Amino acid sequence: MLSQPLILVVNCGSSSLKFALLDPDSKHCELEGIAESLNSDKARLSWRFHGKQHSLALNNLSVSNQSRHQIAGEAIIELLDQLELRRRVTAIGHRVVHGGQHFSASVIIDDRVIEAIKACSSLAPLHNPANLTGIEVVTEHFPELNQVAVFDTAFHQTMPAHAYLYALPYSLYQEQHVRRYGFHGTSFRYVSGQAQQRLNISPTDHGLVIAHLGNGASACAVHNGNSVDTTMGLTPLEGLVMGTRSGNIDPGLFHFLHQRCDYSIEDIDTLLNKRSGLLGISQLSNDMRTLELAADEGNTQAQLAIKVFCYQLAKQIAGLMTALPRCDALIFTGGIGENSRRVRHETVEQLSSLGWHIDTALNANNGANTNGLVNRENAPSIGVIATNEELMIAQDVIALTSEP
Ligand code: ADP
Repeated sequence: MLSQPLILVVNCGSSSLKFALLDPDSKHCELEGIAESLNSDKARLSWRFHGKQHSLALNNLSVSNQSRHQIAGEAIIELLDQLELRRRVTAIGHRVVHGGQHFSASVIIDDRVIEAIKACSSLAPLHNPANLTGIEVVTEHFPELNQVAVFDTAFHQTMPAHAYLYALPYSLYQEQHVRRYGFHGTSFRYVSGQAQQRLNISPTDHGLVIAHLGNGASACAVHNGNSVDTTMGLTPLEGLVMGTRSGNIDPGLFHFLHQRCDYSIEDIDTLLNKRSGLLGISQLSNDMRTLELAADEGNTQAQLAIKVFCYQLAKQIAGLMTALPRCDALIFTGGIGENSRRVRHETVEQLSSLGWHIDTALNANNGANTNGLVNRENAPSIGVIATNEELMIAQDVIALTSEP
């Protein structure tokens, strides 16, 4: 049998490097894995191949003067060699976190694109440099292949100025590009396409609110396939309550913490990004599954953390509806959105004054027998749709690199 060509998808996070090898036609994922905990001595490379899970320690990270993402990248390419998959790679797609105002769609990577990604590094200091390292490693090992950058921010470039501007001196926008950018764009784009198909709604006449709830979480208002507002902002800290991120808070808190508790800017940044959110309130975990188990056993802090998460989510979903002339459906996606019946139930209950009602039985099995729909009969559509950012990236690669 002739082996199918594959697209390598590379996703460099701040301390991890996820990868996948996909056949975008059949949607089959041949290999997927992650090199994680790259900033610690517990770094590991794990992968799934032919239905089996494998793992090995990456213990040479601290002895080399190469960057940790570079070493992880080399280990992944070595793995492709061992599994005899390297020669089947025909093109590469990179998830890039911040494209600033430069990119409203995916692009083939060239020197100009690399310079623009570098220019956006001050907006995503933990992510864009890691993304650039991923591109460098791939360029070294696959110099003959096309590489495509797929930006988390690109989908939101259709937001109108009244949605993306902060009420700050306008010069900060003009000179420093301070504005709301939004993230999770690849997921929102994929899920909005899926929702249009499943709900059989017109691509040119619809309104959706999509909640992407993973470790990071954001929601987006989509009008006729375009983002018109979203909850994340200049950085992925704004908006919803997340695993360890606070989401919206009073900016007056910065001054208060500095004056009263002697916090530095770095202390505040760490507090809001790493010690807040579900973890901060529950004092137990950033992981929703762990919190649900604890809440069921009567842990009141876990119950409170879930309640705050759902309340803030409902409140911001209601806010996003303001951006739409009409809302046809509310869609849940991401690890929590796809799996947590409790979060969906509590969130939709909070939205009952707007006419949203969930069907408990359909919600209990994530809408598995109703094409993802979990709303009560005669109430507006509520859907559960699994996201697939890797497939979206691979499809962009094919669209940009195939001969016309
Ligand atoms: P990431 O943003 O890292 O891609 P995911 O989309 O995988 O994250 O989502 C991770 C979150 O999903 C975690 O909080 C995890 O507990 C939650 N989750 C996964 N499965 C379930 C489940 N069955 N019930 C509740 N929460 C779940």
